[in-house]
Amino acid sequence: MPLLVMKFGGTSVATLDRIRRAAKRVGREVANGYDVIVIVSAMSGETNKLVGYVGETSPLYDAREHDAVVSSGENVTAGLMALTLQEMDIPARSWQGWQVPVKTTSAHASARIEEILTDNIMAKFGEGMKVAVVAGFQGISPEGRITTLGRGGSDTTAVAFAAAFEAERCDIYTDVDGIYTTDPRITNKARKLEKISFEEMLELASLGAKVLQTRSVELAMRYKVRLRVLSSFEEMDDSAGTLVCDEEEIVESKAVAGVAYSRDEAKMTLTEVEDRPGIAAAIFGPLAEAAVNVDMIVQNISEEGKTDMTFSLPIDQVKRADKALEEAKARNEIGFSELLIDSDVCKVSIVGIGMRSHAGVAAKMFATLRDEGINIKVITTSEIKVSVLVDRKYLELAVQALHDAFNLDRAA
Ligand code: ADP
Ligand code: ASP
Ligand code: MG
Repeated sequence: MPLLVMKFGGTSVATLDRIRRAAKRVGREVANGYDVIVIVSAMSGETNKLVGYVGETSPLYDAREHDAVVSSGENVTAGLMALTLQEMDIPARSWQGWQVPVKTTSAHASARIEEILTDNIMAKFGEGMKVAVVAGFQGISPEGRITTLGRGGSDTTAVAFAAAFEAERCDIYTDVDGIYTTDPRITNKARKLEKISFEEMLELASLGAKVLQTRSVELAMRYKVRLRVLSSFEEMDDSAGTLVCDEEEIVESKAVAGVAYSRDEAKMTLTEVEDRPGIAAAIFGPLAEAAVNVDMIVQNISEEGKTDMTFSLPIDQVKRADKALEEAKARNEIGFSELLIDSDVCKVSIVGIGMRSHAGVAAKMFATLRDEGINIKVITTSEIKVSVLVDRKYLELAVQALHDAFNLDRAA
């Protein structure tokens, strides 16, 4: 039997009505002759609520119990989806991650899938089950504890199942009808792309475009999964949505494919750091140990053996970083005069494989921001992206101006 993976995100299963709507779509694929693995997210808002409960109960929580709580939203929707399908006379049952099992690392709250055993589900398909409804976002660690895969992790569950079961396609149903040149909530000039390359989507996702979790794109690229993003609200034909595919399949040849942003960034600066071999290791070692995800780094030219070191990080990690650095200072491992924290910044990035061959892309980005009077605080580049840190109040303006400057509202 050919097999499909269909994933429904939080807004697509937010009410019983929407679950019914999603189930109808699944029913159509069953009628088309497919066995289907449905991956569900928690109802929208549910995961945030559970994360909030954990933080309120225990500020420095045990990560294993965090995952036990936070994974539960998906259990509810998996059961409800199975019941809905049964009401439609479609043989279906639900599976929690541990029942499949979805084996992961023990890095709670950001576990990685290591293996999905297919035997149990395949045996049920063999017995006439048509739909396996699997709770996304969760798995089981080698220690036998429930794990979660990081926010947005149901996308990764879906792609990992598509790879493990060699599905014909992995369809991600969400609240937008595909992948756009930028977040359509920021500008109505955002244009839906018919196709986007794995490389570009990987960058956009890791730079903040939350339509797909970064890891899901990585897995799709590695295992050649046919990955589509489409709307669970609109009736669409088979070619609708956006296909994430190899570079060779893309016809557009623009320098920039899209603009991404990450709203909740912060910047920390250590002033008058002694400039000596090993100082970067002495600063960033303790940060790594404290599980701070440092992103951009700038070291100033030194004067009289002293330098300033600036780095960016997610805003919710500032407290942890502050503590780690003050402790390193108290242990005399590093010396600095001040630790400056700027919590009002965001990161805006342009991404495109065309940058490899087009010159002047970064210069055009900087000129565009200058024309809007937006000051750039930190810059980083790689082969196919340029990122800048700017004041958060300029986020929308910067995204819109860059979208205009690179003519992203028009196809190449
Ligand atoms: P789900 O709950 O279905 O997983 P998410 O909220 O995680 O949905 O992701 C969908 C959202 O991603 C959209 O509503 C949109 O605001 C946002 N988004 C950000 N960048 C993009 C982009 N380039 N294209 C489409 N959507 C984007
Ligand atoms: N429910 C989880 C989250 O909100 C996983 C997901 O929806 O992908 O992050
Ligand atoms: Mg999501």
